[in-house]
Amino acid sequence: MGKFLKLLVLFCAVSFALTLRTEEEIRRRDEMLRHSDNFTAAFSQEYLRYKETGVRTRQLEQMLAMMQITKEFARVEITELDAEAAIMSCVACRATVGLLLQQYRSGARDKEQIIEDSIGICIDLTSYSVIVCEGVIRLFADHLIYIVDARPALTANQMCSMVLQPECGDPDPVFDFTINVSPGPPITGPKSGSIPRNANEIKIIHITDPHYDPAYLVGGFADCPDPTCCRRFHGMANTTAARAGRWGDYRSCDSPWEVVEDALEAAHRQHPDAHLIYITGDYIDHGVWETTHAGNMAILDRFYAAVRRVFGNKPVYPVLGNHEGQPTDQFAPSHITDPVISSHWLYQHSANAWAQWLPASALTTVRRGGYYTVNNLPGFPRLRIIGLNNNDCYRMNLWVMYSRVEIAQQLQWLHDTLLAAEAAGEYVHILGHILTSGSSCFRYWSREFRRIVDRFHRIISGQFYGHSHNDEFNIYYARQQHQTAINYAWLGGATTSYGGQNPNYAVYFVDREIYQVNEKESWYYSVTEANLNEATRPVWRLHYRFREFYNLPDLSPASLDNFVTNTMSRSRNALRSYREFRSSASDFVMNQPCDDNCLRGQLCSVTRNEINDNRKCNEINNFPLS
Ligand SMILES: [Zn+2]
Repeated sequence: MGKFLKLLVLFCAVSFALTLRTEEEIRRRDEMLRHSDNFTAAFSQEYLRYKETGVRTRQLEQMLAMMQITKEFARVEITELDAEAAIMSCVACRATVGLLLQQYRSGARDKEQIIEDSIGICIDLTSYSVIVCEGVIRLFADHLIYIVDARPALTANQMCSMVLQPECGDPDPVFDFTINVSPGPPITGPKSGSIPRNANEIKIIHITDPHYDPAYLVGGFADCPDPTCCRRFHGMANTTAARAGRWGDYRSCDSPWEVVEDALEAAHRQHPDAHLIYITGDYIDHGVWETTHAGNMAILDRFYAAVRRVFGNKPVYPVLGNHEGQPTDQFAPSHITDPVISSHWLYQHSANAWAQWLPASALTTVRRGGYYTVNNLPGFPRLRIIGLNNNDCYRMNLWVMYSRVEIAQQLQWLHDTLLAAEAAGEYVHILGHILTSGSSCFRYWSREFRRIVDRFHRIISGQFYGHSHNDEFNIYYARQQHQTAINYAWLGGATTSYGGQNPNYAVYFVDREIYQVNEKESWYYSVTEANLNEATRPVWRLHYRFREFYNLPDLSPASLDNFVTNTMSRSRNALRSYREFRSSASDFVMNQPCDDNCLRGQLCSVTRNEINDNRKCNEINNFPLS
């Protein structure tokens, strides 16, 4: 990785963090980080000499080579990246951000010169086109410079600790915060129990991460070096192998409109009896170097209109993904009104667009911060829905480095809303884009969210997210009792095949007493098969029913934990089938080798609730597999 640039490069991707797990990896990281100041000093010296003389020394070339960011880095899966490269990313971040920050703060270089240096370093360290580097850096510069000016004490090491955790260790304590959690009964055991399956269940369709790309070009070039391919920008493919199909592509390609529309129509056709529709964000493409407010709004309008046309008057509950921000991932707090960096345009647009689905009472917080709550749903009197804008946990949202007070606000609102729900005897579904437990959220935010889950796990009956593009789940364990399962989240997969999965959507069957999920289905089509029959529409298939497939008594947290701890962690077959489920049976994923360590790696994504908290995961990922 490397610097502003490295940072910026990462904004481009879905962005998976790395996870250092072994003691040895952590020891090597700390050792390298101890020497990173020397590296930063040497890099600064060589780089500034180059700026003066126009000549690059061999030492500078070597340092740049060490800091190379491969395209793979931005899209590779958590456990698959080499630990050395992960650690080097932190050193590189400190060196490049350190240099640029010092030059800017000292007045040696002005804003335009810093931007030009950043573009130069982006070109040096990545495979991206000049146009991509230039576009990304110019889009993000105003946000970054505003934050750097407003926080004169912010250091490069602090910034890298936030963006790159855990490669740079825990985020700096300067970013820490706590919210007020009301006292509640102690946690006495795992959350168990469920309502038997019955004919009266609520059926919910979950669609996420469509990533509609208006520039998608059928027959276009799918093998480009940029954050997203298959666009008009890249021209027509010169070989069959590099050709973008009508029904998507496993490489870094978003969705043509037909894919988005087909997924919505298939979901409705196959489940005309669905009661509720959850859509959990990332409607916008990965063309992060050329997003505009108008372009994002045009995509959102087209998507919401299609949802309305296909599902008619059915209740729809949407949330915002990181790609809805412009520039990508950026969500400024509500008191920022400068139109260049403010997020008001998005919150205002969301309030207007969502008014067709949400009551007026829910729109006040949408206008303020893109989140809301709804209760008294017709037909489901005790169900409350909370739609979070949890981009303010996202490591790539630079504004998480701006103000702890701002970041705490929505979580405090979540807590207060749950407290009121508890008093009213309600059960709650939480919708968000980014799994609160995953590697995308910074650790302090995840920890505070866990404190809320600990307190209110009895009434939180379901959590639903997207973002990872994987069709998967995560179990929440009590913070102080890491073996006690008290909640879990379902991640819906993705409509797009960006990143290598097949397009899918999920369906949940929920009881009407405690509103817990009794069964989860996933439906998908094969990109390979669909593109072999381009003239006809894809064939959608039921992939699996989770409870039925694994033969579980119910889908309570206790039951899922029992399955993961005692079956999945010891069974190659269970891990293999889960791997297939996660990618929606993608040929791209399933054709790659996956040894026992790779299979076991999935157990950590299921059981980790906070970056660097590997207690549960370490307990269950060393069993012999049979
Ligand atoms: Zn996404």
